[in-house]
Amino acid sequence: MPGLYIVATPIGNLGDLSPRAAQVLAGAAIIAVEDSRVTAKLLRHIGIKRPMTPYHDHNAEGVRPGLIARMGTEAVALVSDAGTPLISDPGYKLVRDARAAGHNVVTVPGPCAAVAALTLAGLPTDRFLYLGFLPPKAQARAAAIAEVAAVRATLVLYESGPRLAVTLAALAEGLGAREAAVTREITKRFEEAVTGTLGELATRYADAPPKGEIVVVIAPPGEAAPASADDTETALEEALTRLPMAKAVSEVAKKLGVDRKALYARALELKG
Ligand code: SAM
Repeated sequence: MPGLYIVATPIGNLGDLSPRAAQVLAGAAIIAVEDSRVTAKLLRHIGIKRPMTPYHDHNAEGVRPGLIARMGTEAVALVSDAGTPLISDPGYKLVRDARAAGHNVVTVPGPCAAVAALTLAGLPTDRFLYLGFLPPKAQARAAAIAEVAAVRATLVLYESGPRLAVTLAALAEGLGAREAAVTREITKRFEEAVTGTLGELATRYADAPPKGEIVVVIAPPGEAAPASADDTETALEEALTRLPMAKAVSEVAKKLGVDRKALYARALELKG
């Protein structure tokens, strides 16, 4: 069928290419690739040859209209060098424009380093926030970390070996002593997940930058400290100035997570 096919490819182990991905690539009129040498290796692995055209950050604007035009009558596949296209890789504008032009858009899901890292880390997976790569400059990186410090979710980010220790130190500084996992070389020979607090991991890698590809996974923040008696009293007094007693008690109990019955008794005392 003509249209755009978003095809996930392996992140290290060629055996992870799905049969459906292979079938779609074999049937594509053209494959939009980041680096044709990388994709040629994958195509050799499955014993096919297909025409390729480069599609990356530097030429996407110019190449996109031609690809969109071809999708009306041909199957156009999009791959990245590794993993799922569009995840810290080019492609979303191609999907947007293909749909706007009324073309069929099909996804062929598969490996993604962020999701694979979550499965290795042993940290909560019910809510996670994918951060991609943090900014390389210290100030922008600290600001990006501060922005997500209060988010109650596991954080997932990509990093390179040479920058890992500096990034871990910045994360320890901005997020505190959270548990984390440095996952490396997933699906490859030296796959590993090293766990510890952010500070411990920063120290571990300070003088020994690891080789290979890395995903850092960080546990969500712990429970907030319970409100102090003073804070509770102040909040209750303030709420009583603007709300009827039952409503004031209810608001403060909910906001500070304190016991409603005790709060009600204190409100009665305050009202005399
Ligand atoms: N689109 C890809 C995906 O689905 O994961 C990610 C592309 S991004 C440009 C490349 C980054 O992904 C690497 O720098 C590394 O942080 C991470 N990555 C890719 N393959 C990996 C692997 N086998 N093990 C650990 N991290 C990997």
